[in-house]
Amino acid sequence: MRLHWRWRGLRGLLVLALLLADLPALASSLAAWRVTRQGVLELRTTPDVALQAFYEAGDAGRGPRVWVDLPGAPQRTRSIRGSGSIREVRIGRPTPTTTRLVVEFAPGTRLDPRSLRLVGTAPDRWRMEFRGLDRPVLLGLGEGDLDRPSGWAAAPTTPFPTASAPLSADGLPVVPRGRFRVVIDPGHGGPDPGAVGIGGLRETDVVLDVSLQAARLLQARGVQVTLTRTSEIDLDLPPRVSIANRAGADAFVSVHANALSMARPDVNGVETFFFSGGPSQALASALQRRMMAISSGSPNRGVKQGRFFVIRRTVMPAALVEMGFVTGAIDAPRLANPDFRRRMALAIAAGILDFLGGR
Ligand SMILES: [Zn+2]
Repeated sequence: MRLHWRWRGLRGLLVLALLLADLPALASSLAAWRVTRQGVLELRTTPDVALQAFYEAGDAGRGPRVWVDLPGAPQRTRSIRGSGSIREVRIGRPTPTTTRLVVEFAPGTRLDPRSLRLVGTAPDRWRMEFRGLDRPVLLGLGEGDLDRPSGWAAAPTTPFPTASAPLSADGLPVVPRGRFRVVIDPGHGGPDPGAVGIGGLRETDVVLDVSLQAARLLQARGVQVTLTRTSEIDLDLPPRVSIANRAGADAFVSVHANALSMARPDVNGVETFFFSGGPSQALASALQRRMMAISSGSPNRGVKQGRFFVIRRTVMPAALVEMGFVTGAIDAPRLANPDFRRRMALAIAAGILDFLGGR
């Protein structure tokens, strides 16, 4: 079982200048770390660093592990003996340009991967809580100075991701294989690009990418998936509905991104529509909850009734998601980011599985 997520912090030239003064080129971007006695992992990194965090469950002889990969190589690899539930912390070099900080737990330690979040508290600060450790960490562990002022007096002007979502390819809800069928409807397509936003970001591209990924995730979990389109084709609304209704699906999800005027980058947010209450509303709520979990900082515009043709005329539980605004200052860069789209696909797949699992 493996949990994986990734964040990119802020970028800025000033930041780079500070960074270059601070560290030799290609040095590890990990400046300091510690694990407190309360079981909190804290990191200080160079700003604007792309972190990836992973989780792996233990087995009979080995405890679970959490590790974080950071750019740049450490000067030396090393392992530091832990105490209590933490067996060891290792600083490794899995590739010549990567630093890997591994927290290995004692065999038998139980960690709930859904509670693991790598949270950015400043552009150069991160923390992750290990909740519910059965044995205390008797001695705090660490290297480097974490209390050094970060030099970030002003609040960042760009929205800063405050928390990674607890997403996991394997942490998706489990449903019986072969029992369910789902239709995913990537909105627009072909000559109709849908909304076009900041940097020419096109709704059709975003929704197709996310839909294809969500479909693969569901298929891998034994759900039969029908996509109303798999490429840039022109597809009118009635055929989308007839594809769905013919499929005899348990759920229909139409995937969209919102837009307002380019003059309104202040408008951001995630919303989900249903037409009739009951199961459709439950589906919409599950999707909204999962999308919001990965969209920190983007307003929750809620679950609403809407009269969109594709959810009004489909005969199975149906919802239409708006994953964010391609014209929004918070949402647009995320929707343009392949990594965020991957997480959004996981969120949509998870929402669908939540709904199916609750049936
Ligand atoms: Zn749309």
